[in-house]
Amino acid sequence: MWSLSYGLYVVTTCCNGKFNGQIANTVFQVTAEPIRIAVSLAKENLTCEFISKSGTFAVSVLDEETPMKFIGLFGFKSGRDVDKLSRVEYKLGVTGCPLVTENAVSVLEAEVIDQVDGGTHIIFVADVVSAEVLGTGKPMTYAFYQEVKKGRASRLAPTYKPHPEEDKREGREQGMKKYVCDVCGYVYDPAEGDADGGIPAGTPFEDLPDDWVCPVCGAGKEQFSPPRHRRG
Ligand code: FE
Repeated sequence: MWSLSYGLYVVTTCCNGKFNGQIANTVFQVTAEPIRIAVSLAKENLTCEFISKSGTFAVSVLDEETPMKFIGLFGFKSGRDVDKLSRVEYKLGVTGCPLVTENAVSVLEAEVIDQVDGGTHIIFVADVVSAEVLGTGKPMTYAFYQEVKKGRASRLAPTYKPHPEEDKREGREQGMKKYVCDVCGYVYDPAEGDADGGIPAGTPFEDLPDDWVCPVCGAGKEQFSPPRHRRG
C-alpha cells in the first residue's frame, strides 16, 4: 500500500459558525466536468463531523516549505482542545469556510454532493465552487513529507501504519539514542538536534531543557520514549 502516492492538505470547514480543520493526504480529483473532488476523513475527527453537517469544505494545498509546527497544529491536535484557525492566516470563502492561506500553494472550496461510509472513515464527494492559485511554491507530496520532512502519519490517517521495526533498527544503529514522540511519532535524533527549537546537533535527549517540546505537536519531554519502549 505504501507505493501509492498522495499529497498533503489542510481541509477546513465551518459548521454553525464554528471553524475547524485538519491535515488530510487523500484529496483527489474525481471528474473534470464538473470539477469534482473527494476526500477521506476519519469519523473520529471533528472536521469530519462538521463537514457531514455543513456540506461544505475548503482545501489548502500545502507548500513543500511548510514548517512541521504548522502541520502538527492541524495534524496532531484536535479542534475539541484547540481553536486551530485562531493561530493561522486565513480568509473567508464563498461557502463561508475559512481558506487557510498560510503555507498554501492554492486553495479551493467545494460543496458535498454525496458521502460514502468507508468504515472508520467517510469519503466526501464534492463539486469545486471556487479555486485560487496563491503561490509559486511546490505542492508537498506525502512522500516528501515522510522522507524529507521526517513526518509521520497520524493514528487517524487513512494510510496509518505503525513503524516499530524501523524504529528499533534506527535505535540500534545510533550511538546516541533517538527518542520518539508518543503523540505524533516525531523522532528526536541527537545527531541532528532541533534547529527550530535552538538545540544544536549532537545534543543527547537527556540534555534537552525541561521546557523543550516536540517541534511537531508540542508534546513535552515526558511524552517521548526510546524506540524499543514505544507504545503500539
Ligand atoms: Fe509530537
